[in-house]
Amino acid sequence: MTKQEILKEISKDIREHTCSLRAGCLQAVPGDGNPDSQIVFIGEGPGKVEDELGKPFVGPAGKLLEQMLANIGMRRTDVYITNVVKCRPPENRDPSPSEVAEHAEFLKRELDLIQPKLIVLLGRHALQWFLPGEQIGKVRGKAKRKGRYVYFPTYHPAAALHNPSLMQDLRDDFMKIPALLKKIDELPPAPEPPAPDLLPKQSPLF
Ligand code: URA
Repeated sequence: MTKQEILKEISKDIREHTCSLRAGCLQAVPGDGNPDSQIVFIGEGPGKVEDELGKPFVGPAGKLLEQMLANIGMRRTDVYITNVVKCRPPENRDPSPSEVAEHAEFLKRELDLIQPKLIVLLGRHALQWFLPGEQIGKVRGKAKRKGRYVYFPTYHPAAALHNPSLMQDLRDDFMKIPALLKKIDELPPAPEPPAPDLLPKQSPLF
């Protein structure tokens, strides 16, 4: 099967799954974009517009994400965009940790397929899932390798729309992405993960 075909299967499974959020939304929203991309962007969950259209980041936060991508010469069709939860939480409330955990298998299948060089964590929910215990204000704009992936946390575009004082930081973080991708190319491959009790404390990569 090609990557495209496998991605289609994952998307179909996402559209057809049941979970505790599914009854309260219009439809489940699979990830979208290029499965050969070097970068995956991970947000929180579908909002109202995404719930209606069945595609991630197509509302106001999506427009801002597209602008940020354009600033670094990328289009959304060049990258892969997804969310920690695939179903809109009622009234756009925060997804609970158990709701994120319920959808984690989908995220894992998306990442196992794409094997991105860089995972951009948009906001605190994606951050909490991949780098638990970290605070977005402290770690944004800094890449961290953990296991087989390099993570780059930044603010969620919706947070910058609500709080324009975050906008410049978001812009600055995106501007680091092209150089970061190049740098990752130059790094030696990640070593085999050590036994869990030998894992060092995470430290910034760049
Ligand atoms: N916010 C998200 O986190 N994801 C979307 O798809 C849209 C808005």
